[in-house]
Amino acid sequence: MKKIFLGPPGSGKGTYSSRISSFWKIPHISTGDLFRAHLKNQTEIGKQIKEFMNSGNLVPDTITIEMLKNRISQNDCKKGFILDGFPRTIPQAEELAKITDIDVVINLNLSNEILIKKACARRVCQDCGDIYSTIEINQGEIKMPGMFPKEEGKCDKCHGELMQRKDDNEATVKERLETFKNQTAPLIDFYKNNGLLKDIQVKYNPTKMVSEILQAIKSLAEKYELSIDYEK
Ligand SMILES: [Zn+2]
Repeated sequence: MKKIFLGPPGSGKGTYSSRISSFWKIPHISTGDLFRAHLKNQTEIGKQIKEFMNSGNLVPDTITIEMLKNRISQNDCKKGFILDGFPRTIPQAEELAKITDIDVVINLNLSNEILIKKACARRVCQDCGDIYSTIEINQGEIKMPGMFPKEEGKCDKCHGELMQRKDDNEATVKERLETFKNQTAPLIDFYKNNGLLKDIQVKYNPTKMVSEILQAIKSLAEKYELSIDYEK
């Protein structure tokens, strides 16, 4: 099954995509990771990406699409794949539709107020990159546990120092959410009109959310008689 995860920055797209990818054993494709891999391996695409980056320009959609087309034509994508971080705009979604069908779009919902609170409470281990949350959300039906380190300011895994990322502050997060609202939110209607979209309210811990998302995908698959591989 070919799936896309949509949702505002900080809603957990990366976490859910990678957990569902390991559940169904289909690749989790993040365009950010693909860019980094092409740059690192100095491929033809990587060289082009580098030129755009060096001249301070955004990488054009044509290159991103070319890169995705290569990736999803590989053998491991035969049973499906999960796209995380793409498409971000309507023109990208239109280009994507030319190279592949999409079966399911999972749209994660979480209020801006909570997204801002969560981003500002995020702490990252500066040595191993492990992520913690110094806040517990308990608002009506939304109950999201914190991920507190055992010792304040120290990573549980490697005892490295926990830091707040520079752009995890209220002003920057608000900017990211504004960009999302302008560029990416229109995709919700784009896919809704095609009958592919399932709204999911993020309200629990990731484990509980993953089972809710799996359930939603299964019921969509039944509704549209999509072939789905339940093999675990
Ligand atoms: Zn660490």
